[in-house]
Amino acid sequence: ADVLLAVEGLTVEYAGAGDPVRACTDVSFTLRRGEILGVVGESGSGKSTLITALTRLQRPPAVTAAGRVLYHPREGGAPIDLVALSGRRLRALRWTRLSIVLQSAMDALNPVARVGAQFVDVLRTHDRSMSRAQAWDEARRLLGLVGISADRARGFPHELSGGMRQRATIALALACRPELVVMDEPTTAVDVVMQRQILAQVLRLRRELGFAVVFVTHDLSLLLELADRIAVMYAGRIVELAASHEIYRSPLHPYTRGLRDSFPPLHAPVERLEGIPGTPPDLKALPPGCPFAARCPHAFDRCRHELPPLSAHGHRAVACHLHDPDLRDSEEAPS
Ligand code: SF4
Ligand code: MG
Repeated sequence: ADVLLAVEGLTVEYAGAGDPVRACTDVSFTLRRGEILGVVGESGSGKSTLITALTRLQRPPAVTAAGRVLYHPREGGAPIDLVALSGRRLRALRWTRLSIVLQSAMDALNPVARVGAQFVDVLRTHDRSMSRAQAWDEARRLLGLVGISADRARGFPHELSGGMRQRATIALALACRPELVVMDEPTTAVDVVMQRQILAQVLRLRRELGFAVVFVTHDLSLLLELADRIAVMYAGRIVELAASHEIYRSPLHPYTRGLRDSFPPLHAPVERLEGIPGTPPDLKALPPGCPFAARCPHAFDRCRHELPPLSAHGHRAVACHLHDPDLRDSEEAPS
């Protein structure tokens, strides 16, 4: 398969007084070239921790305690483990292979530099053969890709609207044609109309340029429109991973079902807004069994003492005893 990234058993801990707290536990998934993978979860589910670890942006006290992030370069050759890479080799991959748009993207532009000059800097740092004039042309072209007129390149960030700054930041992330763009809630600060426009642009650019995206958000409805597949995180683990349409039509994990039912349908009148009663468990004192048991309407005895592993369910995966593959097999076997 055309794998771009293979995340294997990624575990991130926060050191402090007492035992380290695991914010992200044994996370594994693969990302295909050109694929948009959404990662959804409530705050504290480990989704931001996961992407700061996989892009190596985490700072102490967060430490990657285990796991690998294998990046397969487009030109072939052995995969590169981003977790083990030196800072210097990692910097060489940033922008050109892997770029990042963070939650505070709107404020990621330098307020005292002209918008276009920031593109020129990035472009010329990574391609020393590019002249200043060529880089300015490219800056204007890139701004055009996200619907910002060329004359804005000479302006300062504060002269752009919030939505435009957001789009400019995305264009900047694409400047050096990365294979992967990691986005953490990049549209939370803009209104819904602008959010839809930005997502439509990301989809169009992905079609034209072919980069893959890992997109993290608490908003499942947004991922249902944007992502090819969705990973649902709860208490630091992936609890379900499936195609977007499957997450929408036939979620397997009770938490995924609750999340889906918490949001109004996209193109239909609001019929249900059930939400999920209760709050996620304290990561410092996780229960022994399923971390969702206290909130789960289907919890049974086994759930309270045995952690359900993430198991394959066809081409999807779910961590719930209701979908235990052994039970499933015995149900299907003639008795
Ligand atoms: Fe609910 Fe049990 Fe499944 Fe956990 S394992 S989600 S408690 S049914
Ligand atoms: Mg976050």
